[in-house]
Formats: sequence, C-alpha cells, structure tokens
Amino acid sequence: VAIPPGVNSRDWDAALRQFRQAVGESWVFTSDEDIALYRDAYSPLWGEREERLVSAAIAPDTTEQVSAVVRTANQFRIPIYPISTGKNLGYGGSAPNLSGSVVIDLKRMNRVIEVDDKRHFAIVEPGVAYFDLYRHIQDRGLKVWIDCPDPGWGSPVGNSLDHGVGYTFGGYRDHFQAHCGLEAVLPTGEVVRTGMGALPGAKTWAEYRYGFGPTVDGLFAQGNLGIVTKMGFHLFPAQEAYQNSVVTVPRRNDLIPLVDLVNELEHTGLVGQPVYGSPLGGPPGAFPPELAGLLKRPGGPPADDLDRFAAERKRGSWTCRLQFYGSPRVIAAHIEHAKERFTSVIPGSTFQDGELLRFPLTQAQLDRVHKVAVGIPNMSIFSIGARTELNPSPSDGHLWFSPIIPKTGEAIFDAQRVFMEAFATLGRPSLVTPFSTPATWMHRAFIFIMAFPISRTNVQQNQRNRETFRTLVRVAAEHGWGEYRTAPAFQDDVMAAYSFNNGALLRLHETIKDAVDPNGIVAAGRSGIWPRHLREPRP
Ligand SMILES: Cc1cc2nc3c(=O)[nH]c(=O)nc-3n(C[C@H](O)[C@H](O)[C@H](O)COP(=O)(O)OP(=O)(O)OC[C@H]3O[C@@H](n4cnc5c(N)ncnc54)[C@H](O)[C@@H]3O)c2cc1C
Repeated sequence: VAIPPGVNSRDWDAALRQFRQAVGESWVFTSDEDIALYRDAYSPLWGEREERLVSAAIAPDTTEQVSAVVRTANQFRIPIYPISTGKNLGYGGSAPNLSGSVVIDLKRMNRVIEVDDKRHFAIVEPGVAYFDLYRHIQDRGLKVWIDCPDPGWGSPVGNSLDHGVGYTFGGYRDHFQAHCGLEAVLPTGEVVRTGMGALPGAKTWAEYRYGFGPTVDGLFAQGNLGIVTKMGFHLFPAQEAYQNSVVTVPRRNDLIPLVDLVNELEHTGLVGQPVYGSPLGGPPGAFPPELAGLLKRPGGPPADDLDRFAAERKRGSWTCRLQFYGSPRVIAAHIEHAKERFTSVIPGSTFQDGELLRFPLTQAQLDRVHKVAVGIPNMSIFSIGARTELNPSPSDGHLWFSPIIPKTGEAIFDAQRVFMEAFATLGRPSLVTPFSTPATWMHRAFIFIMAFPISRTNVQQNQRNRETFRTLVRVAAEHGWGEYRTAPAFQDDVMAAYSFNNGALLRLHETIKDAVDPNGIVAAGRSGIWPRHLREPRP
C-alpha cells in the first residue's frame, strides 16, 4: 500500500482505521487494482516518474461522512483530492495534483434533491451524473431541460467546478454561471452553505445566487478550499420546438461581420450556441493541391485568391450554424429576422434551414439530432477518433489546450496566425490551419481549443507535446490570451500567466488557502495554489 507524502506508517494505519469507521470497510480502497482506477486515463505523464498517482480512495455516502473523513485527514495531515464523477478526461481525469493524495470519490452521493419545473432549477449531490438527472426528469415528465457537456457520464457538480461547458443557451452553457448556491465541507470538517442556502429553511436556495454579503462560491470552483456536497442549478424551460439554419458567407474577410452579427443575435437571446466552420477547412495536411499551394505563399494566403478558390467551387468561405428554440412561430420569426440582418450586412449570404423538430421527438428524429443541443446526454463524442479501418492506430487520449480569445473575427485571424507561427518556430506539425474556427461554449468569449494526442507507449512524444503545450501557454499569454482550464501537469504554468502586478492574484489565493486550510490538506496544488509547506519560497 502506498503512503501519502509526509505521513508516517503509524499515522497512516490509524487514519485508515478512522476512515473505515466513518464510511464502512468496503468504501476505503487501498488495493493496487482499485487505486489504478484513479489514474488519469489521458495522463500526459503516463508511466513516467512524475505521473500523478493516488495512495487510496474513500467513497463517503453523506455530507456527515465527508465531514468525518476530512476531520481525520486534517488530524493526520493527509492530502485529499475530491472528485464527483471523476471523468475529467483531457483536463486531468480523476488524478490529483499531488501524487500520493487520497481521492475522496463522491460517486455514492447521487441523490437528486429537488427539481422544480415551474421555477426551473435543480439541487443535486456530486455523484449525480447528467444521465441520472436527465432520467429523473424524464421519469417524472418534468418540463425542464438540462444543459450537458459532450460526455453524459460526467456530473453537473464536477463539471461546473472545473468551469465546464455545454451546448444550449448562453447562460446555461456555462455550467458554473448557471449554478446557484452550494454546500461545502471545509478543511476543518465544518459544513458551510452559500447564497440563500446559508439561511436555515431557505426557500430560494437555487434561485437567488447572492444571499447576503460577499459571494464566495467562486472560491470552490478550480479551487481547493473544500469539498462541495450539494449544488443548485438553474435549468432551461422545456422547449416546444428546435430548428437550425446554417448561414454561409462567400468571402474570407466576411468572417468579421459574420461574428459581429452572430454576437448581436446571441447576446439578444435570439439564438442558442452558434457553431462556426469553414467549407474550405479540413485536417492540416489534407488540403487539395491547389489550396495547399495558396496556403504556402509567403506572408500567408492572399484573401482574394482564397475567395476565388471558394467561389469557383461554390463553397463559400465560412459557415455558422444558428440554433433556434421556442414555438414554431417564434422560431420562424427569429429565422426571418436573422436572414434579413445577414443579407443586408453581408452580400451573398446564403442559408440552409434544418428540419423543424417538435418535442417529444420520434425515434428517427432522436437518432439524427445533435443530442446535446437539445439537452439529451449521450456518449457519442467518443466515436470521434475511434479505431476504424481509416484510423487503425488512434491515440490513447488527448490533452485539451484551451485559450480564451475575444469573440471577434479579427481575433480568430490573429489566433490562427500566432499559433501557426508558433508551431512552425517549434518545428512541430501545426494543429491550426487558416480555416480553424473557435469553440463557442462560453457565452461571451471564444475558446481556440486544440487537442494534443497522448500515448501510453511513446514517452518521447508525450514529452515533446508537453514542451509544445507549455510554449503555447506562454505564446498565448504574450498576446493577452489565457487558458480557462487545464490538466494538473500544466496548472502552475497557466496560473503563472495570470501574473498582473507580480502575481497578486496567486498571492491572494495563497493567503486565503493558508487561512482556511492551514494544514494544506485539500487538493494541494490545484490551479497552481499550493499550501505553505509545499510552496517554493518566494524571492
Ligand atoms: C471527448 C471529450 C469531450 C469532452 N467534452 C466536454 C464538453 O463538452 N464540455 C466540458 O465541459 N468538458 C468536456 N470534456 C471534459 C470532461 O470529460 C468533462 O468536463 C467532464 O464532465 C468532467 O468530469 P466530471 O464531470 O466527472 O468532473 P470531475 O472529474 O468529478 O471533477 C472535475 C474536477 O473538479 C474538482 N471537483 C470535482 N468535484 C468536486 C467537489 N465535489 N468538491 C470540490 N472539487 C471538486 C476536482 O478537482 C476534479 O478533478 C470532454 C472530454 C472528452 C475526452
């Protein structure tokens, strides 16, 4: 059995006894087989000495049990690392920042406490997966939708606490923004509730976020001040119908007014998530020879030539899928309005309307709809990149590089250029092309996301990718872009980029950490915030 760092074997044995008393013998895991399940399946450090491993895992069933476990951990100074459903693939999986930490696995706390379909909210425990919440709602015929990320096996609590994102309307897609009130166990074992939840017998826990006084909820997301045991979320009222329409614009520089117009529609609340693309795009290295020739021109591809290329093939330069929700009449009016705006501002805009879907869907409609856009959790994203005849050696996973850039066409062009140049300078194959478009999960910013492959056998490839990743973090920061989320292996690098006033933000986090968790037991190192005894001395 591995022992957490800084703990002697006598204390460790005593702590294990107390953990077992608190949660029951069978819910403390120490065997190699059991703890291997908490390796990050997509670890960029797979098999290397620095890989983040756990020493044990504990699965409490109630807030009281969490509290008892935390008190013991505090007594013996045992580092602990909470997870909800532990599916954070691409951003660290269920592995901790500090090797040897004990994972507090909250999967057994899977109670849906309340769902209200008149006031549109839910209160859930951390082990409730998106699938569970969806089933709870469907079984009872409740008139609310959830907003889910691509993999339905994650949880509203775990996902939102890493600032995760989804696919419907702006305010719901940003899952932490949609949260409302939480309960957390502090490093001392004390239980705290935020917002209206702090009022005993509160009637509006999941409706009014602020309660009274300073809001502290944000400290628990990407933070390490406690273990969240309940959370409220605002939900989207169930919609009568859904339809999308894809707008195509002809010229390369039309991207700038395209984004401005889509912003106008989205920030007014007329469309859900916009999805950008380019009919000229494709994986790097897979362009037809004529286009590849244009792209190689020194100084980048001339816009006029690209426009001619697109026009000759009747393809257009950029597309955006606009998604509309509401009654069929409302949808028709919103689509008409959008078309008027585009045709008056961007000459040559064309539209392709999708099927009008009324709920409930037929099985055939369900099979073809993009499920997350209508709040239906599923796992189909994992078919992308799966082993097929055309892709006989898929990677073992991937690492997300997720810089936030402004929501403008100019910023997209800048990001393409800057990251392509960075890959070229490093002599690495580029993950970016002149047709790359950003992800749009955030309501008010773009994510210029890239996936670096992970290998379980090629350590050298992982090392090179880690170096490239770190360089891109620095290059992004030089241009005023920062990552919104990252795996533990890079959290110190990303936090270092948020360096205004000689790292004042990190110093504030450290001051709070030292005050709330003086023994530094909870999620040491998360977001680059280390407890005092593990911190490098500051100059
Ligand atoms: C192919 C693919 C597609 C993906 N698509 C998306 C997507 O569309 N949107 C998206 O957001 N992500 C996406 N991801 C990333 C990830 O899979 C999801 O975000 C997933 O929901 C996170 O796992 P989880 O919900 O089980 O959270 P967990 O792994 O349980 O939690 C994440 C982290 O939050 C902290 N935490 C969790 N619970 C607690 C708690 N109770 N108290 C304190 N801290 C806690 C921990 O540090 C933990 O490591 C994708 C990944 C892959 C591989």
